[in-house]
Amino acid sequence: MDWSDWSFWQWLSAAFALVVAIIGIKFAVNFDINRYLEGRKNAQKKKLTALCPHTELRLLESGEILIESRFHSPMGTTAYICGQCGLVVHDQNAALRVSQDWGSNPIGWLKADKRFRKAYDKFYGI
Ligand SMILES: [Zn+2]
Repeated sequence: MDWSDWSFWQWLSAAFALVVAIIGIKFAVNFDINRYLEGRKNAQKKKLTALCPHTELRLLESGEILIESRFHSPMGTTAYICGQCGLVVHDQNAALRVSQDWGSNPIGWLKADKRFRKAYDKFYGI
């Protein structure tokens, strides 16, 4: 290849390709694997929170099904924290509503709990 035959546009595209390559290398050098993993972990945790039913299903001796909220309010706070996934809500009604919703849909709860368990085991590598 004779470089002296290169047209202006060929030189320009070659220069452009070089700039893109330099930016790519700079990005690769700045790429922090720990931050990337941290970001992924946070995203997975968020997904876990979204899958959590925030309730516990109990079968009573009488054969009745009881859906109990996993939200509890630590002393001295007005926040409610899910004991299973760590979701924090500041509205008691919202926490109650979750249990009421699942209370009318125990089959849906079983499915949701199964999905959560699967995601949980995957996340914590159990
Ligand atoms: Zn939860």
